[in-house]
Amino acid sequence: MAAARRPAPRRRLLACALPLVLALTASCTSASHDEEEAAAGAAGVGDPLFPGLGNGGYHVRHYGLTLDYVPDGNRLKGKAVIKATATQSLSAFNLDLKGLTVRSASVDGKAARTARKGTELTVTPESAVGKGREFTTTVVYDGVPQAIEGADGSQEGWVETDGGAVGLGEPTGSMTWFPGNHHPSDKAAYDITVTVPEEFTAVANGELKRKETKAGRTTFAWHNDEPTASYLATVAVGRFDVATSRSGDIPVYVATDPREAETEADDSVDVPGTIDEVLAWESGLFGPYPFRSAGAIVDHNPDLGYALETQTKPYYDSAPDEALVVHEMAHQWFGNSVTPRTWRDMWLNEGFATYAEWMWEEKSGGRSADQIFADFYNGGDDESDDENGGIWAFPPADPPSGAKVSDPPVYGRGAMVLHKVRKAVGDKVFFATVRAWTKDHRHGNADTAQFIRHCEEQSGKDLGPVFDTWLRHKGKPPSINA
Ligand SMILES: [Zn+2]
Repeated sequence: MAAARRPAPRRRLLACALPLVLALTASCTSASHDEEEAAAGAAGVGDPLFPGLGNGGYHVRHYGLTLDYVPDGNRLKGKAVIKATATQSLSAFNLDLKGLTVRSASVDGKAARTARKGTELTVTPESAVGKGREFTTTVVYDGVPQAIEGADGSQEGWVETDGGAVGLGEPTGSMTWFPGNHHPSDKAAYDITVTVPEEFTAVANGELKRKETKAGRTTFAWHNDEPTASYLATVAVGRFDVATSRSGDIPVYVATDPREAETEADDSVDVPGTIDEVLAWESGLFGPYPFRSAGAIVDHNPDLGYALETQTKPYYDSAPDEALVVHEMAHQWFGNSVTPRTWRDMWLNEGFATYAEWMWEEKSGGRSADQIFADFYNGGDDESDDENGGIWAFPPADPPSGAKVSDPPVYGRGAMVLHKVRKAVGDKVFFATVRAWTKDHRHGNADTAQFIRHCEEQSGKDLGPVFDTWLRHKGKPPSINA
């Protein structure tokens, strides 16, 4: 995520701060007479910052979402077909869902009971699902989907735009438009099919497989084959102009609100051309582009205040400048393909995406990465500076709460850590280390401890002092040369 030309939104505490239940719930529900004692799946995966997010007892392999959306009145009808594998014998399991009305649910075609409490939707199948079994849950729902508003007024979830809507999920908003296992550790493939009034275009992740208009309504069927964290799933509905092109072998789909195409802003760019240039440059630095398509959604959503790296097609709330495209494209490797194991590891997303901006500036004849590092170090700690104000407030891999997960230490100081690793091991080893990281964890999850180990293994150096000073030290390190 990146703030777009205005102060970075201070992201927020969420409505889903359930108590840490974890495996404790496993003993609460008596088993059916399965060969193995069946128990209810946990109501959260135990994320250190968002303990209620996600659910235990299963992993999702595929989401099939069939949505019908009418912008006038913000009416959504949905059917979610969720293919999952049980990791324990399940008498019941949870999905995360906020708002909306559940009309029916079934497991493997048989009606299932549902109960709701807060953002937890508990599904109780007619008979227990055995450990290791693949099972399909279908949930039919409808209603008026809502945005989640943070303390600073920034929004995620289902956000109505000036003339349409968009689903934005970092860190918890996806539960406002479909039920699921909404934690980044459970990645799945997606087929998102959206029907909208014919004057609208519905854009989602991956590639457009079908577009069909009948009786004044158009259906767009999108397929996203690679594993995707649910916070990166999106649907954007608007009156878009669509441009398709290619970047090498990669098809590029850019949907633009015409009001943003006509912008006179000095720093706005030709988005398809910039994607082409950035994709080639970042592939050289980070390794092969991890997805089979690329693109962008350039919306007219002036109240949002940020961009998000939604998978294959980053979402921009207005015409982006070059640095923003560089940032959101870098996330396709860092965050989207290599996804944080928990939200505490988010500096691995934002540190790399911010560092990509530094390197782009250097390559483009602006400040060198060394100079930008020095500017961050010397830049003081003025909270009014949305770039480096507050970067010493906490160590990047240890946000004190979920509300701080998008704060400056995770971005600017995260990039500083990477720059110091680069200086310690040299360019050749650093970029080989980065490419090995994106290769080893391609389409997976990884955490901070793995990253540190990886850097040390790749370089053969003890990088403890570098990480102690720049990643773990509380407050500003005493010397820029430490
Ligand atoms: Zn970002």
